[in-house]
Order: sequence, then structure tokens, then C-alpha cells
Amino acid sequence: MTNRKNFIKTATLASAALLLSAFKDEAENVKPKKITGKPIVISTWDFGLQANEAAWQVLKNNGRALDSVEAGVKIPEADPTNQSVGYGGRPDRDGRVTLDACIMDEFSNIGSVACIEHIMHPISVARLVMEKTPHVMLVGDGALQFALDNGFMKENLLTEASEKEWKEWLKNSEYKPVINIENHDTIGMLAMDAEGNLSGACTTSGLAYKMHGRVGDSPIIGAGLYVDNEIGAATSTGIGEEVIRIVGSHLVVELMRQGKSPQKACEAAVNRIIKLIKLRKKDLKDYQVGFLALNKNGETGAFSIQKGFNYAKYNSDGNKLFDADSFVK
Ligand code: ASP
Repeated sequence: MTNRKNFIKTATLASAALLLSAFKDEAENVKPKKITGKPIVISTWDFGLQANEAAWQVLKNNGRALDSVEAGVKIPEADPTNQSVGYGGRPDRDGRVTLDACIMDEFSNIGSVACIEHIMHPISVARLVMEKTPHVMLVGDGALQFALDNGFMKENLLTEASEKEWKEWLKNSEYKPVINIENHDTIGMLAMDAEGNLSGACTTSGLAYKMHGRVGDSPIIGAGLYVDNEIGAATSTGIGEEVIRIVGSHLVVELMRQGKSPQKACEAAVNRIIKLIKLRKKDLKDYQVGFLALNKNGETGAFSIQKGFNYAKYNSDGNKLFDADSFVK
């Protein structure tokens, strides 16, 4: 009997010790790892250079990554000469400029607007959706109404240049929406601040001459943008339908979680898209998609289907433009 009692006592003590060490392991695992390579901001395309400048102003003053990406993407949004984002963006086939944007922070707070018209800074409306509503996404008239109720101004976003091009397009278009690899580009921006926290923003006027009401990947959390503060962040540009099909940015982040570098993760996501284009017996030459990724060590990656995708990176080495590698050489 005594032996049995002793056995139970020893066994209980041993399992308590095991439990304690398991808790200790778990606690140690959540200890933040040493984060290198910060602060940093990266963004899609060459207009990312200017956007990065604004984002860096926030980061260099120990600001939050969230504030930096919002400030950054507002630059192309307000630029009338940029015909793929915000003001000056190419309209849909009815001549209406409809904008898509989303934002995500280090706490997995998310906000998004889709098919919003007349508002110069959809990214700021997306942030307000995130911060002031119990929802994550507002679309169309509802998004516009919410913006106006919150002090945003109603503006005409169709510039003379974009209107002229659209009218030219109408002559031969037979009013069909087009998919081409030239007339689109989005700003997707990812940043890690001095604290090592990640955020991202993505904003676009979408595909030129799309059907009215068409929404691409850019405002869809997981497709056009995804941030996981433990792992990294990703964003995309190109034909949104293909990115949505594989929930692209989320896939890139999950691949990084499994141990892939940002570069290898972007390559794997692009390869998945290519596989599905081939499966559907479509012609690869009609498709362009690019992914951009950043991990918690400040390592970056970028890859696209076609040549020509580039991105801007601003860190302690300065603000520089890089050509992404591509599947089609
Ligand atoms: N991804 C955007 C969309 O499909 C367009 C682009 O990046 O060019 O709306």
C-alpha cells in the first residue's frame, strides 16, 4: 500500500514537473525573437519609390508601420499622372473611376473598401472602416456614404487624360471589358517599424475598362494583402482574378510560415497560378501577376509571371528600385 502511495506521489510529482516544463517551453516560444533588418518598407512598381519616401518619414521617426503604409500609398492615390491608382485612375468601361483598397495591421485588424467612387484616398476610408466600424469591408454606395459621413470630400477623379483614353478605347472596344497585361498596376506596400511590427496597405483603380462593379484582389484581405505579425506580409499586383483564385497573399505568408524565404514563397505562389492558367487551357502570355513579400527578418522577395515587374525598397541602405525575377524570361 505504502509502495502504491509512493508510486502515485512520485508519478504526480513527475507529471507536474513535466507540465511545468511544457508551460515553460510554451512561454519561451512566445518570447519575441530578435528581429533584424528594421525598419523597412517595400512597395510595388517604380511609383513605389515616391510612396516609400512618405512611408519612411514615419518609420525613421519611430512611427508605427500602419501609419507609414497609409501615408505611403496616399502619394500615388493623389497623383493624377498615375493612371492605375486613385485620382487619375483609368475608369471602368462606363467611364466611372471605381477604387479598391485595404489595410491590415500587426494585431490583424483589417479594413477594406471596394468599388468606391469620388474619394481620393480610399486607403484612409479602409482604415476608418477598420477603426470605427464593427465590419471589415464596405462597398459601392455604402462605402461612399460612410466616407462622406466621416468628412471625406466628394471629388471628380476622372482626369482629362484618362477620359480621353477611355473614349479612344470605346471606339474599338465593342464595349467589352478587357484583360491585358499593360493597363493595370496597383500599389501594395509592406512595412516593418522600429518595434518590429508589420502592416500593409494595397490600393488601386483596378483593371482599366473593367465591367462596372468588378472588384479585384486588391481590397480582399488574403488575396491582395495579408499580414501576420509573427511571420511576415505579402501583397500582389496584376490580374486580380488569378490572385483571388489562389488567395495569393495569404498563401505567400503561409509558405513563409512553413519555412520558405520570401523569394521562394513568391515563386511558389506564381507557379501555382501558372499551373491553374494551364489547367484552364488559357494562354500564359495574356496574364501578369506579381507578388511581393517581407518577413520578420527584413528579408524580401518578389516574383512575377512576365518580365517587367519591379519594386522599391527603403531601408538603412536607402531607397532603391529592383527588378523582380520572373517565370517568363
Ligand atoms: N490587381 C489589380 C486588380 O486586379 C490590378 C493591378 O494590380 O494591376 O484590380
